[in-house]
Amino acid sequence: MSDHYGDVKVQLGQMKSLGEDAEKEEVDPEEEMPVSSPSASPDPAGCCITTAPGTDALSTNICKQKGKRSRKNPCGKPLQGFPAHAVKNINSPICEQTLLIKGTGKILQGKSAESNGNYVAVHESSDTQETRCEDEFKLPRKRRPVTVDTSKAKTSLEALKLSIKELQWKEFHTGRRAACDIYWHGVSFHDNENIVSGQVNKFPGMVEMLRKINLSRAVRTMQELFPEEYDFYPRSWILPEEYQQFSTEIRMVKESDATESPTFIVKPDGGSQGDGIYLIRDPGDLKLVVGAQAKQAVVQEYIHKPLLIDKLKFDIRLYVLIKSVQPLEIYIAKEGLTRFCTEPYQEPSQKNLSRVFMHLTNYSLNVQSGNYVHSDSQNTGSKRTLSSVLYRLAAKGVDIKRVWSDIIALVIKSVIAVLPDLKVHYQADIPPAKPGPTCFQILGFDILLMKNLKPVLLEVNSNPSMRIEHEQEVAPGVFEYVPSPVDEQVKVGVIRDTLRLMDPFNKKLTATPHPAGGGSDPVEVIPADGDSQGRSPDNAGNLPPLCLKQVYPKYTKQFSHLRLVERIAALFIRFLGVKGNMRLGPTAFRTFIRTCKLSNSNLTMASVDILYIDITRRWSFALADSREAGMGLQAFVEAFFNLAGRRFKSLALREQVVSLLDLCESHLGPQSGAEDRRSLSCSRALPRGGRTPALYLPRPRPISPAAHRRATSQDCRPHQRPKPRTLRANVEN
Ligand code: ADP
Repeated sequence: MSDHYGDVKVQLGQMKSLGEDAEKEEVDPEEEMPVSSPSASPDPAGCCITTAPGTDALSTNICKQKGKRSRKNPCGKPLQGFPAHAVKNINSPICEQTLLIKGTGKILQGKSAESNGNYVAVHESSDTQETRCEDEFKLPRKRRPVTVDTSKAKTSLEALKLSIKELQWKEFHTGRRAACDIYWHGVSFHDNENIVSGQVNKFPGMVEMLRKINLSRAVRTMQELFPEEYDFYPRSWILPEEYQQFSTEIRMVKESDATESPTFIVKPDGGSQGDGIYLIRDPGDLKLVVGAQAKQAVVQEYIHKPLLIDKLKFDIRLYVLIKSVQPLEIYIAKEGLTRFCTEPYQEPSQKNLSRVFMHLTNYSLNVQSGNYVHSDSQNTGSKRTLSSVLYRLAAKGVDIKRVWSDIIALVIKSVIAVLPDLKVHYQADIPPAKPGPTCFQILGFDILLMKNLKPVLLEVNSNPSMRIEHEQEVAPGVFEYVPSPVDEQVKVGVIRDTLRLMDPFNKKLTATPHPAGGGSDPVEVIPADGDSQGRSPDNAGNLPPLCLKQVYPKYTKQFSHLRLVERIAALFIRFLGVKGNMRLGPTAFRTFIRTCKLSNSNLTMASVDILYIDITRRWSFALADSREAGMGLQAFVEAFFNLAGRRFKSLALREQVVSLLDLCESHLGPQSGAEDRRSLSCSRALPRGGRTPALYLPRPRPISPAAHRRATSQDCRPHQRPKPRTLRANVEN
């Protein structure tokens, strides 16, 4: 995967610019010129389109000459720009309409061979400017500012306000009677109820999906299907239900090699900021019960050889924007944060297991240490920019281009793992027929670099802290919030550029279709490589280049083969029936079996019923958000794997699943899995082969917990039923 971040930063050695240079060259020819009335203010961007004689449309020069540009057109009137849509796809209806308004047909002269919805550059003919003079009074009026409801923004408010101000948008901090274009929520989709239009910065179900247990389950399903590709997540067991498996496996590891003494980290489900986390070396040290309650937690292999800087362990906080789930669009912030421990690292030993300042990188913990260094500089202190750390590694000869590309792969794969559940939540909360907003979300990925530079996913935060100030003791016992320049630099950029990408007046790509469709997929526009990357999509040309980089669909080819569980989710959604449902009832499950013609002499309807009852009973605890009884998606996936195993015994699991999907989809109309089938038919080129096999814990192969579940469900043994969990968001604020 060639990546411009690496190209720019490594090859040109311009770490600080984080790709700015490359992007300056890539300024969008479509950058919306101000659509103004004659009296409107001039183009603040100073951005103009020039045409070198003899150049074709695609080689049109774009110049950005802040302050230099003449603001008068040849008529001596304020220069009028084309509205963005006038220079988009010239074959589009919008464009034709524009020509009609202008009434001449002479305006757009350049043509691109592209007519697929990507952007085309245009250049003006000599008489274009005359045409503009004639028609400028007919141009559309200045657009109204984008409105943002910030009443529920909570601790993101400061950064959000700064972003809105930079964009010259309009903030409604106590809400608004009329609808806003964008609603900024601090915790979840449901912070504001009854939103029927606009865009909300949270997806329904994201909080639930990213809780430690659910994330571990989702990644584990992918590990079963694609073990080599999902080796970036530490081995994890879910407590209390997998306690026995965990103990057995660790005993086997120790028995097979007496020198092996692995360490594990125990994290309470739904916890954040290091709360309740502890390290153990023996399963007997697990605190399984709190009060009378079994404690829901994930116990995870502890990465004992992290990369150190200044002898300190650190982790990376990377901001990722999910712009849309269908079509899938993912952006990664080119700048992130690194959080440092405050005590020199030593490999875990029985003695140092409880030294949190040595083992846990959480800001909220380390800030309490006397060694915490607040610094205004980006490259010193206990919180630094990611670029400063990468710069330092590059100076030591580290191939940071590769590190960055591995990080991008980790992010895309993680999103693909949670996407199926997200789609189920989405269709339940915003059924296709019901008016509702569309969604986007900024996620916080916590990533650890191992000593061998392999990135490891620690967790994904659905509500990454967007605070740009920190508490400081200004006098003994007197605390004040003071600005944190490092946080501000990174977080305001992320929020501002997220807003720019979500600007409702600036739909560069085709309108995002409703993501709950579960199959019938309108055309997904996949911009050509390099297209729209890092461009400024708005007319505020005085803004810096976007700090968010699109990675999907850009890298569709490398990753689309992983989107297998989404096809299972599409079947699941299809058979859910009642709108708002997230669970499949026994009749719907039977209908699925019948419609897809799966029953035969080896799979009688009676055994289908037994399978349903068995799996549903064990999974009934798994979805805390149990709106109704029945089979949730993860249980359905297990049932699907089971059916695939029965039907295609001789194949490996992944092939079994693909074969069963093909079979099911062949019996269904074109609605089922359309997007997924199409994307799956893309090249299956893997991003990288032959990487070190992940993490250190030897994997004696007693079967994985999920495989164990499947095996046991085949003989339908009775199972223990863990207690339901309560819902808590992993809010960092
Ligand atoms: P929380 O949501 O409470 O912050 P995390 O999963 O982020 O929980 O873990 C807290 C910290 O513990 C991380 O920032 C990291 O420093 C450390 N940590 C977490 N998981 C591992 C692991 N598997 N190996 C090594 N360190 C870990």
